[in-house]
Amino acid sequence: MRILVIGNGGREHAIVWKLKQSPKVTEIYCAPGNGGIAGLATCVPIAVEDVDGLVAFAQEKRVDLTVVGPEVPLLLGVVDRFEQEGLKVFGPRKQAALIEGSKRFAKELMQKYHIPTAAFASFTDAEKAKAYVRKQGAPIVIKADGLAAGKGVVVAQTVAEAEQAIADAMEEKVFGEAGNEVVIEEFLSGQEVSLMAFLDGKTVKPMVVAQDHKPVYDNDQGPNTGGMGTYSPVPQIPEKVVQEAIDTIIWPMHEAFCNEGIEYKGVLYAGLMITADGPKVIEFNARFGDPETQVVLPRLKTDLVEVMEAVIAGTLDELSLQWSEQAAVCVILAAGGYPGSYEKGLPITGLDEVGEDTMVFHAGTKQQEDGVVTAGGRVLGVTATGADIGKAREKAYQELAKISFKDMHYRTDIAAKAL
Ligand code: AMP
Repeated sequence: MRILVIGNGGREHAIVWKLKQSPKVTEIYCAPGNGGIAGLATCVPIAVEDVDGLVAFAQEKRVDLTVVGPEVPLLLGVVDRFEQEGLKVFGPRKQAALIEGSKRFAKELMQKYHIPTAAFASFTDAEKAKAYVRKQGAPIVIKADGLAAGKGVVVAQTVAEAEQAIADAMEEKVFGEAGNEVVIEEFLSGQEVSLMAFLDGKTVKPMVVAQDHKPVYDNDQGPNTGGMGTYSPVPQIPEKVVQEAIDTIIWPMHEAFCNEGIEYKGVLYAGLMITADGPKVIEFNARFGDPETQVVLPRLKTDLVEVMEAVIAGTLDELSLQWSEQAAVCVILAAGGYPGSYEKGLPITGLDEVGEDTMVFHAGTKQQEDGVVTAGGRVLGVTATGADIGKAREKAYQELAKISFKDMHYRTDIAAKAL
């Protein structure tokens, strides 16, 4: 099979790496790919938003399966377009991807189907939003309605901070159109866990859970990022609680989509808060999480091509997903300044010294004639596996110490909550 993967981050590197292990695969293309993906696949310079360009490429190369990594093309309707052209594609259609593209849509669906989530109100008027915040008090959570690359959420500790967040999103438009509407949510406390599942429109197959680390600095300090590291399994969250989340959130979401006449095929990602009252939804994504995918796919023993084909065919029920008992820990190496502004084009050294059994997934890198350079905020994800979290973690930190670039920074406490 010839496969096209759309995207250029650590998630897509992990997807390409996993697909490459399938005996069914003869050739992988990645649009546009990055410096690490280039070692496994043929990178083609087509942007993820260039739907026409992607369709034309898939037709020209007679691609047998296209896998959509990021949310942006999903919300541009890339899956709808591929299907119209008779091309096989993995991911939800635009209408289904709205579960990620509009927080209000997601919240209203959850409310209608009694799926546990934080209480909320949504506003298109900044003054009304501020009045609501003054009435509710803090802490309180302000979210831009649309896509904001994981940065559209402010957990405000004071009313003043909440009012500022509303002004930034709705008046200053720091997230552009995504902030025309805001969702204001009750603050939930507890441990966070990411639960992803494959959905084929008929059934649900959950993946193993992972835990992300959103704040940029150790001990969860500093602003939120796209994610600074992950690990799987999450031993401090009992199996019973994960099952409760599957039963009260994932299955009911599948049923909600069916009832609404929306066929959801692909990956549904639930960001959960494990509260004293049980698991509650913080957000849904319509695709693999990043960096969660960098620890979840290394634990998947089943052929990913088979899983994706079953999702598309609606035959997931016949497949049993097999998972490794090994633990996986991924530490993100970020550019100095991230999640604010940062330098690009910095040479990366030591990549060849990393042990063979450690995976270095590239996120923001570029292959140049004289080597690999940085090209983004999150630069690399170093994933190690081991008999338990402690061993995987020790190895990840030992191996990442071999890599360096100017002003590189990373959290030193990834997976510490599990020990
Ligand atoms: P999101 O982009 O919706 O996943 O939000 C980013 C981060 O903000 C989450 O990972 C949580 O740490 C935090 N967050 C979002 N919603 C809430 C909430 N209702 N209560 C507490 N923390 C939240």
